[in-house]
Amino acid sequence: MDKSGRCLCGKVSFAATGVVLHHHACHCGMCRRWAGGPAFAAATESVSWHGAEYISRYASSEWGERGFCANCGSHLFFHFVSGDDYYITVGAFDDDSDFRLVGEIYIDTQPPGYRFAEGLERLTGDDFLARYGLSPDDS
Ligand SMILES: [Zn+2]
Ligand SMILES: [Zn+2]
Repeated sequence: MDKSGRCLCGKVSFAATGVVLHHHACHCGMCRRWAGGPAFAAATESVSWHGAEYISRYASSEWGERGFCANCGSHLFFHFVSGDDYYITVGAFDDDSDFRLVGEIYIDTQPPGYRFAEGLERLTGDDFLARYGLSPDDS
């Protein structure tokens, strides 16, 4: 599915193709520190950015970087540096009414103070990394 979106101030906007409407919540410590809570991000096939000069990229690991608007601070994406695919924060899309939370990852580092609805697939960090062919040593 094609979808558009933008940051809070509008300096950065985007048009994404191949947006996957089923997404996960990530409870890992980096996402929670970055986002202030669990992070929602949707896989995409390709993204064209407008206002790319306002995007700041932070290398949060050897293999991943996180992007945000340098003007307003809105979280925009997680990106594997080895590829072209961007996982865009669900809240950045203009229409986020058709997204569905289908699972949770890094449940082994989830703090005890909150829970999502029952019935979601719940993966530990190691399970998640194994599924996507990443080594736990890379995290
Ligand atoms: Zn902005
Ligand atoms: Zn995470």
